[in-house]
Amino acid sequence: MPTFTDSATLETLKHEVLEANLDLVKAGLVLFTFGNASGIDRETNQIVIKPSGVSYSHLKPEHMVVCALDGTVKPDSLRPSSDLATHLHLYREFPTIGAVVHTHSTYATSWAQAAREIPPFGTTHADYFHGPVPVTAELTDEEIGHHYVHNTGLAITRRFQGTDPLAIPAVLVRGHAPFCWGRTPHEAAHNAIVLENVAHMAYQTVLLNPTAPPVSQALLDRHHFRKHGAAATYGQAR
Ligand SMILES: [Zn+2]
Repeated sequence: MPTFTDSATLETLKHEVLEANLDLVKAGLVLFTFGNASGIDRETNQIVIKPSGVSYSHLKPEHMVVCALDGTVKPDSLRPSSDLATHLHLYREFPTIGAVVHTHSTYATSWAQAAREIPPFGTTHADYFHGPVPVTAELTDEEIGHHYVHNTGLAITRRFQGTDPLAIPAVLVRGHAPFCWGRTPHEAAHNAIVLENVAHMAYQTVLLNPTAPPVSQALLDRHHFRKHGAAATYGQAR
């Protein structure tokens, strides 16, 4: 049994995870309770995630569920989001991420259902995603029948072999919906909101011109490295 330790960091994380969940609702990415955000305290390897099926209008920081990386839920907690096993797998395999967000937002989910990656058609995309937003392979009947939620995580990390998850902080799970991530809950929710906007614009781009090309590698790099990495020039110096 893992040990659970209370700390100021964990309390802050509960507030941040709640805020990220509410940001998804405010941005119109979540219908009813179909979405979830989580965050991890890497010092203690404790994960904070939204409880399952609780209406957003009633959510409070103390409702956030604390669990360990092996999936053990802190005693006397509410039941965690049913997607917990996917979140946990991503935390184990992507050590640089600090938060995960899952929604069924309309446009990103439409690309997932069409089993199409989202090409980088413009600089909004390039600012956040350094290449196409990829689609996972189809899960087998076996993978769906046993440990489906964990296998969803495996499909994601298989697709990201050789890709830095912070360079492309989103994926489309085929026939399902997007998962996004970031260093903080706020960043992961922000990436989910931008992904939906990028997916909407890409949809309209394809409607207007079915053979529209993606931006050049030079433009993709220019915009990506403007915001990321040692040479970033966007915003104010830290
Ligand atoms: Zn889902």
